Amino acid sequence: MTSKEKQPASTSNFLRTIIESDLAAGTYTSRTWGGKPGPASAHEGAPADPAKIRTRFPPEPNGYLHFGHAKSICLNFGLALDYEGICHLRFDDTNPVTEDTEYVDSIIDTVKWLGFDWQEHLYYASDYFDELYRFAEAFIEHGLAYVDSLTPEQIREYRGTLIAPGRPSPDRDRPPKDSLKLFREMREGKHPDGSLSLRLKIDMASPNINMRDPVIYRIRHAHHHRSGDKWCIYPMYDYSHCISDALENITHSICTLEFEDHRPLYDWILERLAEFGMLKKPLPHQYEFSRLNLSYVVLSKRRLIQLVAEKYVDGWDDPRMPTLVGARRRGYPPEGFRLFAERIGVSKADSWIDYSILEDAMREVLNESAPRRIAVLDPLKLIIDNYPASQRETCEAPNHPQKPDWGTRQIPFSGELWIERSDFMETPPKGYFRLFPGNTVRLRYGYVVKCTGCDKDADGNVTAVHCEYFPDSKSGTAGANNYKVKGNIHWLCANSAIATPVHLYDRLFRVEQPGNEREFERDLNPASKNTIAAQVEPALAAASAADCFQFERHGYFTADKISSKPGKPVFNRTVTLRDSWKKQKK
Ligand code: ATP
Ligand code: MG
Repeated sequence: MTSKEKQPASTSNFLRTIIESDLAAGTYTSRTWGGKPGPASAHEGAPADPAKIRTRFPPEPNGYLHFGHAKSICLNFGLALDYEGICHLRFDDTNPVTEDTEYVDSIIDTVKWLGFDWQEHLYYASDYFDELYRFAEAFIEHGLAYVDSLTPEQIREYRGTLIAPGRPSPDRDRPPKDSLKLFREMREGKHPDGSLSLRLKIDMASPNINMRDPVIYRIRHAHHHRSGDKWCIYPMYDYSHCISDALENITHSICTLEFEDHRPLYDWILERLAEFGMLKKPLPHQYEFSRLNLSYVVLSKRRLIQLVAEKYVDGWDDPRMPTLVGARRRGYPPEGFRLFAERIGVSKADSWIDYSILEDAMREVLNESAPRRIAVLDPLKLIIDNYPASQRETCEAPNHPQKPDWGTRQIPFSGELWIERSDFMETPPKGYFRLFPGNTVRLRYGYVVKCTGCDKDADGNVTAVHCEYFPDSKSGTAGANNYKVKGNIHWLCANSAIATPVHLYDRLFRVEQPGNEREFERDLNPASKNTIAAQVEPALAAASAADCFQFERHGYFTADKISSKPGKPVFNRTVTLRDSWKKQKK
C-alpha cells in the first residue's frame, strides 16, 4: 500500500491525537541524529526526514503471527502511512533459545501479505548487540549497574512483592571496576549460565517492581540464529527494546498495556544514556493500547504452540488456527484484517471483541472480490422426467450480480441434476417454499420445475427427487416472466459437475472465552472441521490455489493451497454468508 491507498480517514483515537499534537508542536523536527548511532548497516537512512514520525512493529521470532499481531501491525504501519511517516519491522531477537529463522521468514512474508511495506527498514535487535554491550559498560562505569552473583531464584526472592519492598543484593555495592571485570568475563564465556547477571542499580524500594534493580544481561551459552556463537550473554527485553527504539529514531513506540508498568524503566534507561551523551534527545516515547481479545479464540503463543504440538490442529497453518498463516490458507483476505483493525479501533480499555466482527469484515471484503460459483454441498439427484434424454444445453449465470462487467459464464444443464438435500422435503413445514411434491420452484438461471415425487431406499431415505420442467420458462427468455414461484434453488448438471472435497471449518472453540472455566483444550469445538464430498461446477476445475469464490447460498470458499492439485481443487470454507453461530449453538 502507498499512502495514497491508505485506509479511509480513520476515526480518531488517543494515539492519533498524540501524534497530531507532536507534529503540530514540532516535537521531532529538532531531531538530528548526530549522536552515536548503532551499527552503520542498521541505520542507513534512519534519520532521513527528521519531521517524520517513526513507529515499529517488533515481533519476537519465536512463533507465528496471530490475529492480535495483525491489530498491532495495522496500527503501527497504518499510523505511519496516515501521517506519512515510516514503520520499521524489527525482530526482537534477544532470546536465542526460543527463536528461529523459520519464524523470521514467516513473519516477513505475513507482514507483506497484510499489505505493508517497511521499505529498507528491516532491523534486528541482535544488530545492536555491540551497542547494547557498550551502553551496559557505561552503566557500570557510572555506578548505575553491577554484576550480581545471586541466582535467578534468589533475585526473585530478594525482589519483594507488591506490598513488601525488595532487599538489596549483597553485591549491590560491588565497585564498578570489579563489576566491569566480571561483566567482561561473562562476555568471554568464563562463567556458566545463571551464575552471574548484570543489574541496573535503581531502587530496591520502588513501588514499581520493574524498577527494583532489573536484570539487563544474563548468561546463555546458546547459538543465536543471527549472531551465531559470538555472544554468550544476552540482553533482556526491557533493556534492549527501548535502546533499539532510540537507535532507530523511533518516535512513538506503541505496545500493549501490560508494558505500562515498564514505561518508567524505558524512560529511565534512555534518559541516563542521554545524560551520558550516548543518545540524543528527543527520545522515543512509549504508548500503550489494549491488546486484542477475540471471543472463541486463544491468542497466546504458549497456547497456540500447545495446539500444534499436541496435534489438536493440523499445524500452524491449519485454517482453524488464529494465526495469520492459518487465516491466509482459510481464505481470509488481508483487506479484511485491515478493515477489522479499523473497526475495532484502539483504546486503553480492556475489552473482548466478538468473533462475528472479524467474520463480518471478511464477508464485506469477499462480497466485493469473490466471483460467484455454484456448489452443491450435500448432493441429492433431481431427475427431470420430461427432459429429452439426449438433450444438452447451458444456462447463463453472472459472475457477480452487482458487477455486470465481470461477465457471465455458461453452466451445463441436463435432465439429471444435483440439488441440495435440504432443498427437498417430502412433508414440508409451513413456510417451506422449496421442493416438495406438487410444488413449483425455479432452478436458478434455468427452468421452473414442478416436483412430482421421490425415490427412497429400504430405510426410507430419499435417493432421488422427480420433477417435470416447463420448456418455456428458462431464465432470460420471454416466457420466464409468466412463472411466479417463491422458491429458487441452485443445482448442477450431474454429468458435468466435479466431485470435490470441501472442508467446512467452524470455530475452533465452542465457548466465548476458552480456558476461562477449565483447561482450554476442553473447550475445543469437536465439530470445527467437517470434510464433505461436494459437487462443484465445471468452471471451478480451473481454480488456482488461494482463489476465493462465493458459492451461492453457502458462503465464501477458498481453494486450499496445500491439497489442491491442478484441475482438482479442494476447498476450504472461509466464512458462511451469514452468522448462524449465535442462533444455532447457544
Ligand atoms: P503472546 O502474548 O501471544 O506471546 P507476544 O506479545 O509475546 O505475544 P511479540 O512477538 O512480542 O508477541 O509481539 C509483537 C508485537 O505484537 C508486540 O508489540 C505486542 O504488543 C503485539 N501484540 C501481541 N499480541 C497482541 C494482541 N493480542 N493484540 C495486540 N497486539 C498484540
Ligand atoms: Mg512479547
